[in-house]
Amino acid sequence: MAIGLIYNYSFSDIKSLLASWGEPNYRARQLWEGLYQHFWVFPKQFTDLPLPLRNRLAEEFPTDALTPVNILRSSDKQTLKTLLRLNDGQAIEAVLMCYAKRRTICISTQVGCAMGCVFCATGQMGFKRHLSSGEIVAQVMYFARLLYADGEVVTNVVVMGMGEPFHNYENTLSAIDRLNDLEGYNFGARRFTISTVGLVPAIRRFTEEKRQINLAISLHAADDALRSSMLPINKPYPIDDILAACRDYISVTGRRITFEWALVNGVNDTPEQARLLAGKIKGLLCHVNAIPLNPTIGYAGQPTTRLRANNFKEILNNYGIPCTIRLRRGMDIQAGCGQLASK
Ligand code: SF4
Repeated sequence: MAIGLIYNYSFSDIKSLLASWGEPNYRARQLWEGLYQHFWVFPKQFTDLPLPLRNRLAEEFPTDALTPVNILRSSDKQTLKTLLRLNDGQAIEAVLMCYAKRRTICISTQVGCAMGCVFCATGQMGFKRHLSSGEIVAQVMYFARLLYADGEVVTNVVVMGMGEPFHNYENTLSAIDRLNDLEGYNFGARRFTISTVGLVPAIRRFTEEKRQINLAISLHAADDALRSSMLPINKPYPIDDILAACRDYISVTGRRITFEWALVNGVNDTPEQARLLAGKIKGLLCHVNAIPLNPTIGYAGQPTTRLRANNFKEILNNYGIPCTIRLRRGMDIQAGCGQLASK
């Protein structure tokens, strides 16, 4: 059996654990390197560890953090969506996207989500539980192992799967710190992007921590009435409060923010919404990432058209705001967050 639950341990936790088992200090380093540099997860793979220690690891960590139960590949072969079963039987999703030289993975931080965004399949499921830091790390290591077998590496990690990462702040950030460790997986902080729906106190905490991780805000609407009807969390954290926190984030860190916008036909893809948005974010160091809505069963809204999307982008560009219209990928495998798990 794989010892994947050990991903819950930081390097110093592993040092303490092995010391408590009477092992010399250097064993912790060997175990850490095996996990994060060689992507080993089965005790028998750790051939530099003595057999009794391998056996003890197998006894103490008898299960893997997650097990793939359904793997779907899009018809263009560029998107691989995996349904992963956790130890308690719950399921989450993680996605690998291969475009040109990029190997981007999208990971989950919770089972379900408490934010209730009306257009999102995960939001429609409700909140089940937070993922542990190890369950978050294990998703990255799962794809790292998969790509390694093909001589490839993960290039980017986006924390945009199931759940609101800032609602599970501690576990999400400690997972990223673990993956960031120079003597372990050594995945640069700048290659992570966290996407939040706009939990203002957490954005402020993130700002104070001055991390190098990229920040994306799921905005989706430019006035409070519309935004509250799409994202209930807008009531406690309205747009102006979010943008004030974003302004402070940019001035403290000097880093650019991305605003995410799911374009819903006739709802938030109008010239009025584009102009209102432009007025609010003009002059900010930012980028708008707009993508036609991925329709879900529980929401009547439909994706925008190509023409309306281009018009939306053009209006923002006229105000000097960079905007990209992203393509919807993996539609044939329900790559929208939560669509597979909610089934
Ligand atoms: S869009 Fe994100 S924050 Fe909103 S319900 Fe879905 S998973 Fe949660």
